[in-house]
Amino acid sequence: MSELKKNSNFITDIIDKDLAANKNDGRVYTRFPPEPNGYLHIGHAKSICLNFGIARDYKGLCNLRFDDTNPSKEEIEYVKSIEEDVEWLGFNWNEMFFASDYFQKLYEYAIQLIEKGKAYVCDLNLDEMKDYRGTLTEAGKESPYRNRLIEENLDLFKRMKSGEFEDGVRVLRAKIDMEHPNLNMRDPVLYRIKREYHHRTKDAWCIYPMYDFAHCLSDSIEGITHSICTLEFENNRPLYDWILNELGVHHPQQIEFARLNLSHTVLSKRRLRELVESGTISGWDDPRMPTLSGLRRRGYTPESIRNFCSQIGVSKTNSLIEINVLENCLRQDLNKKAIRRMAVLDPLKVVITNYPQDKTESLDAINNPEDSSMGQRTVPFSGVLYIERDDFREQPPKKFYRLSPGVEVRLRYAYFIKCVDVIKNDSGEIVEIYCTYDPKTRGGDSPDGRKVKATLHWVSVSHAVEAEVRLFEHLFIKPDPDDIESGGDYKSNLNQNSLKILKSCFLEPSFENAKAGEKYQFERLGYFCVDTDSGEEKLIFNRTAILRDSWAKIEKAKK
Ligand code: ATP
Ligand code: MG
Repeated sequence: MSELKKNSNFITDIIDKDLAANKNDGRVYTRFPPEPNGYLHIGHAKSICLNFGIARDYKGLCNLRFDDTNPSKEEIEYVKSIEEDVEWLGFNWNEMFFASDYFQKLYEYAIQLIEKGKAYVCDLNLDEMKDYRGTLTEAGKESPYRNRLIEENLDLFKRMKSGEFEDGVRVLRAKIDMEHPNLNMRDPVLYRIKREYHHRTKDAWCIYPMYDFAHCLSDSIEGITHSICTLEFENNRPLYDWILNELGVHHPQQIEFARLNLSHTVLSKRRLRELVESGTISGWDDPRMPTLSGLRRRGYTPESIRNFCSQIGVSKTNSLIEINVLENCLRQDLNKKAIRRMAVLDPLKVVITNYPQDKTESLDAINNPEDSSMGQRTVPFSGVLYIERDDFREQPPKKFYRLSPGVEVRLRYAYFIKCVDVIKNDSGEIVEIYCTYDPKTRGGDSPDGRKVKATLHWVSVSHAVEAEVRLFEHLFIKPDPDDIESGGDYKSNLNQNSLKILKSCFLEPSFENAKAGEKYQFERLGYFCVDTDSGEEKLIFNRTAILRDSWAKIEKAKK
């Protein structure tokens, strides 16, 4: 993972200072704490690269911790997918934990707070509690239950745990300050009664800790030194610190950074789940999804995502990153790695009238001009070929240098051909074209120095393998589907043309045994990979990305 050399940013500055002061005895210990309520997306990749990257760079450790304190939404499917995605990205955790592993410990910490007079059982209902809370401009009011005796609080909390009370009738609250300028510090709820089956602890508990209580203590129990999270938790930091201070336990430092926002997509598990559940897309791993499983299926490499994360850096200001930045990282990586192949997506038949009937030749073709170790292959050539329909115009507009009547072009790795006739059906559509070839131009060059302005890709009809190719566009038409104009209705910005299926494309025969996940560059067309739906009876490809550079530029560089 050479691309992940130490990136310095404001977080590494903090760590460097801590190390210089020998804080935490010189240890660096981070964690990535996903809630298992959906699949990971590219935003999570930023957090993964940051947390695991810091552990690697400082020879420290990083845990994977499932923040599973909210039982109604968590599923084992999500846990599995998260493990798989972190590993796929190229990271190994030191230990894997679940916040639910700590339920008993957390309960004991809550008892300690009650014993210290720092927490109380409150019987206000939700509406009343909201009322008492005040606003940003108005102080809150103290709950009438705030001054319950310690003994009574202990008794009630234990009875909450043993299931004596209905859901929602009582909560445990921290006793802090109802006039605190930070609303999170106005006696926040620490525990609620909720009879809900939990995927790991099953029915053992009917009280569950709130995120703010569970998170800081999970960090503390694991000996985390730097608890890195996104900016929206900045206002929770005083509570994070308060709980750990009151309990006098190991105290990690919470540090906030700006979350990743990517153009033309949404990065929120809730919204992505809505897209899955409404059937707008085919699933969490739909190749249009910004999930790691979607990007993987689309043909993204872990290296390209890690490079992207290191390129965008880490800061304290929220911004919207152009999705092009991500695509460019992918192109850079695939340009080095992807085997070149010829494929015709929108076929037009070409008959070479002077090519001997039934003759077939094997022509040498290069697998990757960027990497000679990837070797060569042969491509069969015959007198009946497919070219891209778009590469022919009966009446070429200005600057159209590809094939048209009377014009000569090069067929990649093969010969010069010239169009001599255009065959149409009754409705005037072109069904095939006739060409002649120059046998002296085999390999793609003319001995008399004749030049052509275009090189086209092609496949031999009788040798071709048929495939379905799926083309994707951005999932949303607007760069920010969540902008104010859309009034929160991000779905109104869905791109109705984000998927186009081409049922009958033709590929070189070397594709015959292509396996799911394999990545290719279809010459002149872009990067493609074999989809997981692909099988022996039907080859299916995803277009990963189009080529940014035009063919002309590539050709120029080679000549
Ligand atoms: P979502 O809104 O997508 O559900 P979340 O913050 O609720 O995201 P968690 O499972 O709690 O998801 O996230 C795990 C970690 O990943 C957290 O530390 C969170 O801050 C971080 N994270 C989530 N989304 C992003 C993002 N867009 N950019 C950077 N980090 C993110
Ligand atoms: Mg969260």
